[in-house]
Amino acid sequence: MNIDTLSAPACPPVSAYDVALQNFQNAAAALELSDDVKSLIMYPERVLTVNVPVRMDSGEITRFEGYRVQHNTARGPAKGGIRYHPSVTLDEVKALAMWMTWKCAVVNIPFGGGKGGVVCNPKAMSANELERLTRRYTAGILPLLGPGRDIPAPDVYTNSQTMGWIMDTYSMMKADGYPIPGVVTGKPISVGGSLGRDEATGRGVFHCLQSASGHLRISLKGSKAVVQGFGNAGSVVANLLDSHQSLVIAVNDSRGGVYREDGLDIPKLMLHKERTGSVVGFPGAQPIGDEDLLALKCDYLIPAALENAITRDNAGRVCAKVLAEAANGPVTPEADAILETNGVFVIPDILCNAGGVTVSYFEWCQNEQHLYWDLYEVEKRLERVMQSSFNEVLNYHTDRKVSMRLAANMVGVSRVASSTLARGLYP
Ligand code: NAD
Repeated sequence: MNIDTLSAPACPPVSAYDVALQNFQNAAAALELSDDVKSLIMYPERVLTVNVPVRMDSGEITRFEGYRVQHNTARGPAKGGIRYHPSVTLDEVKALAMWMTWKCAVVNIPFGGGKGGVVCNPKAMSANELERLTRRYTAGILPLLGPGRDIPAPDVYTNSQTMGWIMDTYSMMKADGYPIPGVVTGKPISVGGSLGRDEATGRGVFHCLQSASGHLRISLKGSKAVVQGFGNAGSVVANLLDSHQSLVIAVNDSRGGVYREDGLDIPKLMLHKERTGSVVGFPGAQPIGDEDLLALKCDYLIPAALENAITRDNAGRVCAKVLAEAANGPVTPEADAILETNGVFVIPDILCNAGGVTVSYFEWCQNEQHLYWDLYEVEKRLERVMQSSFNEVLNYHTDRKVSMRLAANMVGVSRVASSTLARGLYP
């Protein structure tokens, strides 16, 4: 995540853990899971809180608190990012770990769900301080980590460099310094990262939009799209839509938005953002506010910024045919109900943005088997996974007449329940 996203509100209005539990309960009820199975897969398997003392550049020692949660490992090692942010809480990490469990199961990759976080303000820390924090945090959560146990990845305000430090610390402490690349994904290509990982989330969202368009008989060519959050995920989707002759009529970032009825020139806009740090001021476009952008009439609305972008206050103004959740948790449960009543086709986050973790899985496979896949192979495999996952969720949605969100949760939860039962973990 870019540093500018740190200016977002520190406390989301809805507790992420409450939402995660509610979504689970809905899926478990629809699947008629027994109370025994429910209680086995609802709660995190392991929760670790670590004390992370760091010598700051000033010479003083500051204590940070860090967490690592393994929600479920019935289907494979725990998988999930590490977040550095002042508003990180244990509840939030537990919710995100739970979402990872269902997300990995929806795309049917053999990983469980995990998540980590450190309560810190990376904006106020130097690169050296962040490196010391990362290494000390890694040492703290070391008992949980390993290519067959728990595999972190970047999340909000951590990046490939952070993963490089984690891999190095783990390799030094566990293997006398010999590299164990499979302990993290999203690392630099030079130490075993995968081609195509940077674009994977946006590309996965695009494949979902292609599939949804086929289902709803919307032609991509000439369609209109709006992207909230022109960052990693959002700019990649916008670019792919643009290259398939969809008109991306508005995008924004934390500093403001731009609108052009006939479609923005996305490659030029990407250069403008690279040069100036924002989409604001793009020549030939009009400025647009966040709320007006979300209410634009379009075929595809893609929230790709932060949680809780669409709430009960603005959901009624959404005029899109398809809402594709590139971000995690951009729609609150109350807003979800409004969108459903209004006939908006929602592609839920645990399906829509699963391209990132899917290519993380490809990275891990290459590391563990000492393989190298070229970009074509990574992209083809990603396309197959996203298309088949979308179709599986869509079949639940149409056969059982449930929302796409409930359908995705049912696919994920049922797979985890079956793996749990197959392993005989029940009393
Ligand atoms: P990013 O930092 O690259 O992009 C986020 C963008 O959102 C930035 O351009 C920022 O300026 C903008 N933004 C922040 N607040 C905003 C606001 N209020 N209105 C409009 N724009 C705003 O981050 P990213 O990696 O693209 O992640 C975006 C979302 O996608 C997050 O919810 C993240 O959890 C989710 N996600 C990302 C990945 C991935 O691999 N990158 C994978 C799964 C999910």
